[in-house]
This record gives sequence, C-alpha cells and structure tokens, in this order.
Amino acid sequence: MSVVGVLALQGDVREHLVALAEADVLARPIRRPEELAEVDGVVLPGGESTAISRLLATFELLEPLRARIAEGMPAYGSCAGMILLADEVLDGRPDQHQLGGLDIVVRRNAFGRQVDSFEAELDFTDVGDVHAVFIRAPWVEKTGEGVEVLARVPDSVEAGDAAGRIVAVRQGHVLATSFHPELTGDGRVHRFFVDMVRAAG
Ligand code: GLN
Repeated sequence: MSVVGVLALQGDVREHLVALAEADVLARPIRRPEELAEVDGVVLPGGESTAISRLLATFELLEPLRARIAEGMPAYGSCAGMILLADEVLDGRPDQHQLGGLDIVVRRNAFGRQVDSFEAELDFTDVGDVHAVFIRAPWVEKTGEGVEVLARVPDSVEAGDAAGRIVAVRQGHVLATSFHPELTGDGRVHRFFVDMVRAAG
C-alpha cells in the first residue's frame, strides 16, 4: 500500500490524514526528515504559509523536502500548501521560504482582500463538480509552460474580482488547490492525488 505523509508542523493536518486514509493509503504525519524518507508522496496542509515555512527551517525539513519534490516525489498543497509549492509569491513575507516545484505565481490572501472566506462550485478537470471552500486563500496569477489549469472560479456576480481566477493546477507530479477539499468531506481530490502517487510508484 502507498504511504502518504502529511506535513504536520501547523495547519489542518488531521483533516488531511482522515481524507487520505479514506482514499486507501497509509497516511502518516511528518515532523522529521527520517519520516519524510519513508513516504511515497506528501500533502502540505492549509494553515499559515509563513508559520509553516519558518517551522520547516527549524525542523530541518526545508532542504530534504525541496530535494524530494525536485526528484519527483508527488506533492499536493492546499491553500497555504499551494503557496509553499509556488516558485513565486506576491504579498508574501520577505523572509518566507518557498519549497518550489510549481512554475506559478500566486497571490497570498488574494480572496481575503475582499472577504475572508468564500465558497464556489467549480468544474474540476478529471474530478467533476466540486464545492470549494476558500479561507484567506491565494489564487494563481500566472502559470508557466507545463502547468495545467484544473479549475477556475466561475463567472458570477458574487465572485466579484475572483471570477475566472485559477484555483487548481498541476505540473507533472505536483498538484495544488487554493481551496480545502479536506474540510468538505468530499474525498475525490485526495483520490485524484493518490492516483498520482500510485502512478509515480
Ligand atoms: N493565508 C494563509 C497563508 O498565507 C493561507 C490560508 C489557508 O491555508 N487557509 O498561508
């Protein structure tokens, strides 16, 4: 059975562990480099990217995690996790570290400039209709070559500035969503990631 780790330094770790267990993998929290070495894929949870980035350095996970993602280990980031995987962040803190791996530019707290949280129905490529919950979420402002856009906020009056914004992307073995499928009890996005992990293994 595949083993998928959830970076367990800060954020909604438990919800991801539950969603992964439901997708039939062995789900384990990761706090130490030895634990990272044992997983086939990793989830970076929602939370606060600046705090997670600081803790990654403190727990000596920043370099090992960067290296494994660069070597092709599947990674999935939701919200703060998307920010960590992005090669470039707008409205970040100057001392915030990036894991990188996704050739995108994200704007941190993009939706939060209007409202703190926001919900929308999305058409997610290869997954279907998804009810998405955004909490002080980033959106993707720019994607590089090789990045596949999987979902956008649909055009509607309530969406305001968010209409049409890119909120789910994939680049090879790296997946990211601005929203939190771990909070809605809909396991399909996690299963989509688990399929990526199995395909890589
Ligand atoms: N605003 C947070 C950050 O900058 C992300 C919010 C979330 O993960 N729900 O990291």
